[in-house]
Amino acid sequence: MLEEMGLTPVWRLRKPGDESAGESAPSIEPQPGRAPSAVAPDLTSVAGPQPRATVPPPRMTGREQRAAGEEPSLLESGERRAAIMAMGWAELKARVASCVDCPLHEKRTNTVFGVGDERADWMFVGEGPGAEEDAKGEPFVGQAGRLLDNMLPAIGLKRGRNAYICNVVKCRPPGNRNPEPGEALQCEPYLHRQIELIRPKLIVALGKVAAANLLATEASVASMRGRVHQYRGTPLIVTYHPAYLLRNLSDKAKAWEDLCFAVRVMRDLQEGAAAPTYREPRDRGIATGES
Ligand code: URA
Repeated sequence: MLEEMGLTPVWRLRKPGDESAGESAPSIEPQPGRAPSAVAPDLTSVAGPQPRATVPPPRMTGREQRAAGEEPSLLESGERRAAIMAMGWAELKARVASCVDCPLHEKRTNTVFGVGDERADWMFVGEGPGAEEDAKGEPFVGQAGRLLDNMLPAIGLKRGRNAYICNVVKCRPPGNRNPEPGEALQCEPYLHRQIELIRPKLIVALGKVAAANLLATEASVASMRGRVHQYRGTPLIVTYHPAYLLRNLSDKAKAWEDLCFAVRVMRDLQEGAAAPTYREPRDRGIATGES
C-alpha cells in the first residue's frame, strides 16, 4: 500500500504517544444535527385536517406519477421511506436490485448494493459506482477500489473482515458524474437502512460527495478531516476519496494521517471513552487545502 500511496517503505500504525502519528486522542464532536434537506422527510404522519371525500381519488404510486411526468408526492416519499426502514437484509437487497425510483436506473448494468461484513465495526461510504462497479455489481473494484483495498490492511481490516463498503447511490451516475441531489435523496433511505442494520461503530466517509450527503453540508473535506462528526448518532469521520488520492499524490500523507486518527477514534469507541481529546489539524499546523 505504501508504494501505491507514495509512502514507502512501510505504512504502519504508530503507537499512542508517538508524536509523528498525530497528537493526543480524538474528541467526539457534539452531534450537529442534520439539515433537513439531505433526508427525505418522514411525512407519514403529517396529514392535517383532511376534507371528507366520499369517493377517495385514485392515488398514483411514485413510479406512476413519474411516468406521468409528475414529481412523486411528499406523502409517497414518506411512505416509501417508512417501508424501506422496516426492511431486513433480504428485502432491502431485493428492493435495491429492482429499484427504478430515480433516473439512474435507466443506464445501469447492475445495482451496487454494498459488500462486506454485515456486523462490521467499520463502514466505508463512497459516492457511487463507476464503470467497473456497474459491470460487476460490487463497490470499489476499479482503480480507486484497489487503493482502498491496499489501505484497509494498514488498519487491520480487509474487504469482508470487520469492514462494510458501500456508496451513497447504488446505481452508476452516467459518465461518473456526481450524483444529483434528487438521486442521492432517493437512495438515502437505502443507505440509512444499511447503517441501521449493520450498526457500525464508525463510518468513514470517503470524499466530499459522501460527506456532503451523510452530513448535509457543503464543507470541504479538508475542513472536515480530523474531527468526529455524527450521522444520526453514529460517529463518522471524513477523509479523501481514493480516486482523489490517485490524482493528488501529495494528499496521500493526509489520508494516512486520517487512518491513524480513525484507528484512535475506534479504539476510544471500543473502550467506551467518554470524552477523548483531539486537536484539529489546523491547530497542529497542518495545511488544510480544499479537497
Ligand atoms: N468510487 C466510489 O465512490 N464508489 C465506488 O464503488 C467506486 C468508485
